[in-house]
Amino acid sequence: MANTSTILEATRGARILFYLVSPSEEQYEHLSEVPDYVNMAIPYFVAMMLVEAFILYMQNKGIPRADDTINSLTHGVFLLIVQILTLPIGMLSYSWVYRNYCVYELPWHSPWTWWIAAITFDCGYYWFHRMAHEINFLWTSHQTHHSSEQYNLSTALRQSTTQHFTSWTFYLPIALFVPPSIFLVHRELNLLYQFWIHTEVVSTLGPLEWILNTPSHHRVHHGRNPYCIDKNYAGMLIIWDRMFGTFQPEQDRVVYGLVHPNNYWNPLRGQYGGYWELLKRFYQTEGMRNKLCVLFMGPGWSPGKPRLGNGVPEVEYDPSQCYHMPTPRWLEVYCFIHFYLILYTVHVLSGRGNELHYLLVTSLLLYCVLSLTNIGLLFDHHPLSPIGEVLRSSFVIFLDLVTTGTASTDLMGGVGVWILRGSMIMSSCIWLILIIKLICSNNKEYKKL
Ligand SMILES: [Zn+2]
Ligand SMILES: [Zn+2]
Repeated sequence: MANTSTILEATRGARILFYLVSPSEEQYEHLSEVPDYVNMAIPYFVAMMLVEAFILYMQNKGIPRADDTINSLTHGVFLLIVQILTLPIGMLSYSWVYRNYCVYELPWHSPWTWWIAAITFDCGYYWFHRMAHEINFLWTSHQTHHSSEQYNLSTALRQSTTQHFTSWTFYLPIALFVPPSIFLVHRELNLLYQFWIHTEVVSTLGPLEWILNTPSHHRVHHGRNPYCIDKNYAGMLIIWDRMFGTFQPEQDRVVYGLVHPNNYWNPLRGQYGGYWELLKRFYQTEGMRNKLCVLFMGPGWSPGKPRLGNGVPEVEYDPSQCYHMPTPRWLEVYCFIHFYLILYTVHVLSGRGNELHYLLVTSLLLYCVLSLTNIGLLFDHHPLSPIGEVLRSSFVIFLDLVTTGTASTDLMGGVGVWILRGSMIMSSCIWLILIIKLICSNNKEYKKL
């Protein structure tokens, strides 16, 4: 018995990624007791992405591209930043409805409550996800998740920063009977389950394909082939798609991404550019009825078309058509190092948000957003991105000097502070030299750097 419980405890971190936990392991009376599952899962995300890259390499399929991977991870960090800076509106609303309108209080410690919560949450997720594809203003935020033309584990972390402001409304009926702590457990476990299905390494899973959402089913969901559009909305259970008529098995080679692909790596544009497009369409469409249809019909709707549009054109699988600017290897390594430094800063700020002044946290997080954006612009070969690198590296050195090292030490700790200083000084020098080289050689072709 002792051995079994030790094995269960040792494997818990990995099992939560696959929903392989029992009610007795993950039941909590109070919201404050619910673990930070996403934080717990981060080492497993990294380990699984490395294993996936190794398998793809061994299969001669090529490892995930640096520009696409960093872009996906950047969107995940953007979501973390928005969550640090805003109130948890979803849980606040859920708890308020539970406190004031609960019809029948299911006991938090009952396995029945746990299973009911798992299934009702998954059903709520199906409907939220379906509406996120079928209602244009909801799609404007959800499209970020679909913007990658690759499909690997990092794609799972490509999340919208605005989706959680609307998705909570779909789960409020559950608050009529399920305690908030149990609801939160399943919200997190359901989200984590959806990580491992973003891969091409797993083909099909036999009879499990009947019940579970699998990599094969979710590949279809990410496709822009006509047969893939508006299909397989499931979170954990594919039965909802089978029940509500949106199920589609994988057939022809899936071509991933948006029907109109984003040909850029600017993550701010990837998150919020859709809102600008929506506003333009709203403004340019004539008549109030049509304007409302722009917001509430499907993204493919236009006057005279059915609610979800008339379908999309056929596409051929051709990886050479995916957006990609040739980037030297050293620059990819450089971007990964700086991405990690920014991620670490966000991680520290999220843990110490209450200790530091809100304005300081906000400014540092804003700096992280602009830094990540500039990394995207480097991959786009934007002419101003080298100057952006000099400015953002110099800013950190300047901050370090004016605070006589306290700000950097506070953030990064003993050894980290020297890694930070070394990286920023080196980066400023590298980019200054490259800019001078560019000016001297009159070379406007950034790719030749
Ligand atoms: Zn989707
Ligand atoms: Zn997905």
